[in-house]
Amino acid sequence: MIAAAAIDHLSHSQVQTFTTCPRKWSYDKQEHAPRERIPSSFAFGIAVHDCLAGVNEASMHGERIDAAAAFMAQWKLAIAGEVPVHYGKDTADDLLAKGRALVTAYVPPPDIIGVEQPFTVDLDPDLPRVEGRIDLIRRDAAGNLVVADIKTAASRLLTETDAVEAQLGLYDLAYPAAQHEIIVLGKLKSPTVTVQPITPWPDRLVRQHYREVFAAMDAGVRYAVRGWGCDGCPFADRCRAEG
Ligand code: SF4
Repeated sequence: MIAAAAIDHLSHSQVQTFTTCPRKWSYDKQEHAPRERIPSSFAFGIAVHDCLAGVNEASMHGERIDAAAAFMAQWKLAIAGEVPVHYGKDTADDLLAKGRALVTAYVPPPDIIGVEQPFTVDLDPDLPRVEGRIDLIRRDAAGNLVVADIKTAASRLLTETDAVEAQLGLYDLAYPAAQHEIIVLGKLKSPTVTVQPITPWPDRLVRQHYREVFAAMDAGVRYAVRGWGCDGCPFADRCRAEG
């Protein structure tokens, strides 16, 4: 086992992966094991995310780009790597059509002041620094800061919000804001775009969560959590062989 102390930084997605399946985190971040596959949902999320970053960036500069064309370019990039994509019930063409419809339905909010804003937070002297990027920062009508994260979902709103409350609690330590929200892109027959207000975790809870998760990483916790997350897991073959 490679000590977690060798980790030079943490991120929301790392911590989220660990809490979902510690073994998956260990394969990825400790062993740097080669990926056997990538789930199409992951490639789709990356393509939507990168496309809308371009749309928001253009809007921030008073410009517009063709979102559908941008998605097509990002989708081709996302599935063109050497690692095979694991598709579920939707084919690559289905997902291309869904993605184009989804990003076309998105309208950037006014007064964007930051897109993919990088940040670093020191939560505790005994923890690695936490790094990340904030999807979107804007000002509301009164000039207050609003921090937003963009999510794709199978429904109009997210019903399980603990993970995004933690994520936005972390962001609030980097960029304290008056309002926090997620922009939910619903992959429905008619795509939906819904702004969902989120109450972020308080400072104390964020710090405690990261301390506890890092202590578990450092202690070598790496049990497998078998379930829906195994479908398309990049390390599923290796995990099955390990037992
Ligand atoms: S296959 Fe399942 S249990 Fe194994 S590492 Fe992946 S998510 Fe975890």
